[in-house]
Amino acid sequence: MEKFYDVVIIGGGPAGLTAGLYASRGALKSLLIEGNASVSQITLTDIVENYPGFPDGIGGWELVEKFRKQALKFGLEMMTTNVKGIIKIEEKTAPLWQVSIEEGALISQALIIATGASWRKLNVPGEDTLIGRGVSYCATCDAPFYRNLEVAVVGGGDTAVQEAIFLTQFARRVHLIHRRNRLRAAGVLQQRLFQNDRINIIWETVVEEIKGKEGGVEELVIKHLPTGEVNNLKVDGVFIFVGLRPNTDLVKGIVDLTQEGAIIVDQEMRTSQVGIFACGDCTAKKLRQVVTACGDGALAAYSAQLFIEDLKGERYPR
Ligand code: NAP
Repeated sequence: MEKFYDVVIIGGGPAGLTAGLYASRGALKSLLIEGNASVSQITLTDIVENYPGFPDGIGGWELVEKFRKQALKFGLEMMTTNVKGIIKIEEKTAPLWQVSIEEGALISQALIIATGASWRKLNVPGEDTLIGRGVSYCATCDAPFYRNLEVAVVGGGDTAVQEAIFLTQFARRVHLIHRRNRLRAAGVLQQRLFQNDRINIIWETVVEEIKGKEGGVEELVIKHLPTGEVNNLKVDGVFIFVGLRPNTDLVKGIVDLTQEGAIIVDQEMRTSQVGIFACGDCTAKKLRQVVTACGDGALAAYSAQLFIEDLKGERYPR
């Protein structure tokens, strides 16, 4: 027989784990499913220095481990498997949702989608063929391969700037290539970047091609936008941080998405489908931070709890 839950949370990053903590503390029968191959982006971050309560910063992996431990303490069930699909199976007062996984199927009254986002690609020639051979989307994973070598970072947001600074612990020289004449990143990160003499900023420039051979990346073809001048930049690796793509393929056609593919939620984290809530980086939002993901997760679980209490006629007057 299929197992029944009050809430199934899909995604094991800060948003999903906080939703799991709140749902299980709310005594909902809750299951969190995290993908087999996916890892939360924050676990790949060397140091998180803007999550309150850790004045000296904390490693991304360590922080997520603490979230996990705290959620499990309150009875959250967790499962590592791939969700294959979601189907609405019954609608009397409210729909029930069937979640297909590799091992079978589960039924839940409510769903919380916390599937996060993935790094966007640059989509230039050479990028796909040289992934893992000089093209990287994770400085924490790959920076040690570039000890005393020369690398480029593409992008001008928090990730590009933070990771460019991190890379200077290993690489001899880091070129930050940004398409504008100013950065999107937070002020404190910009100050550190400008003070770091191992970083060379290449302004108003885009990467048109990544060139390399079997051994890996050898050079970038870069174009200075104001003049149209094209040059070759010799590097041993290139780290691409040009933003995020929400992981929402699972709910495409089920809930309303923005043009960019982010889940549209209201102030209570409700999606366009009754019984489906969403939180964190997969939703349409202004500020993607661990602290906002956690806030979203708490609110999504609270809204799911009120929804379930209403269905059961058990809502405490608030
Ligand atoms: P982001 O803020 O969207 O920045 C992406 C950067 O890539 C922008 O500078 C953008 O340029 C550039 N870009 C986009 N497409 C490009 C293209 N095709 N060619 C060249 N450049 C391109 O992405 P992010 O830096 O990954 O950050 C994602 C979210 O995570 C943000 O909300 C950020 O605040 C958050 N985050 C926070 C921290 C932290 O708090 N320490 C660390 C990392 C990330 P334009 O500026 O011209 O658009």
